[in-house]
Amino acid sequence: MDTRLPWHDSLWKQVLQAWQQDHLPHALLLYGPQGMGKTLFAQRFARTLLCEKPQAEGQICGHCKSCHLLSAGTHPDFLQVEPAEVGKQIPIDNIRRLIQFSILTSQYGYYQIIIINPAEAMNRNAANSLLKLLEEPPPKTLLMLVSHQANVLLATIRSRCQRLDFSRPESSIIETWLSEHLKLKNKDEQVVKLLLNLSAQAPLAALNLAETEGIAKRQVLFESLARLSTGQHDPIEMAAIWNKQDVAQLLQWMLSWTMDMIRYATTSHIPLIVNYDHIDILHRLKRQLNIHSLFDMLDLQIESYRLVTGNANIKPQGLLESIAIAWTKLGTPHRR
Ligand SMILES: [Zn+2]
Repeated sequence: MDTRLPWHDSLWKQVLQAWQQDHLPHALLLYGPQGMGKTLFAQRFARTLLCEKPQAEGQICGHCKSCHLLSAGTHPDFLQVEPAEVGKQIPIDNIRRLIQFSILTSQYGYYQIIIINPAEAMNRNAANSLLKLLEEPPPKTLLMLVSHQANVLLATIRSRCQRLDFSRPESSIIETWLSEHLKLKNKDEQVVKLLLNLSAQAPLAALNLAETEGIAKRQVLFESLARLSTGQHDPIEMAAIWNKQDVAQLLQWMLSWTMDMIRYATTSHIPLIVNYDHIDILHRLKRQLNIHSLFDMLDLQIESYRLVTGNANIKPQGLLESIAIAWTKLGTPHRR
């Protein structure tokens, strides 16, 4: 994929200008929701800084030694630190290795570049260790901290980084980009809006949703919730089926559905509804469901989501069973 994403334009100009005027800080904090392309931005900037013949707008030459080493993943002046697995922590040993790396002199005389992704994955000791490096940064070294949850980083780390905010691109820019990538025609504008709605307006997350048939999978989930609430499906079996899928994603959809039911039952304000392609079902459920049970359901799902996304070692089967059983007790128009 082309990493020149249109909603990055102004941030790109900002860092490029700082570099060209020799005002680049020692550390950048790239923050905003997941799916905005923050890591792609950091990697693109690293390629530009390391290229021997970059062009005026920061495009790389593509054939110098640095460009070749970077595309082969063997550039000695580039280090990307990540958890061993998604959802796991970055331990202090990784940061010690990073500090060793930063002490070395650049092999090619340009920058030494370190990306930490995501920065909030650093455990307490790792973060404290990084802080020491940020307090006395080595020359010609650029640290780029990518963060989906910058508020959980140490305030002392945040304050030592120049911040780049990836949180609020203009909706027309991301809608156009997504339509082009999905090769949709104008009549499918609703599909683009729905995909973005389901992805918290993060365009790469929306694209991923489309490419992995997310809309169809969400449909299957909503149908299974309806079958549970009418007693047409065994909750334990259903939990086992869910457990074979991307549980965090399923929980996100369930949460959006539960919140929609609550929103619709309490306000009937359609513009706030995320899953508005299912407004007819919401309308039917409105008079049938007990609002207090919905809030209990919401609590259960939020807690499950927190446990599933916060702990890579958790086995979600038990949590999914509790949710499936709760759905059987929610009641539906068919049963009453
Ligand atoms: Zn080059």
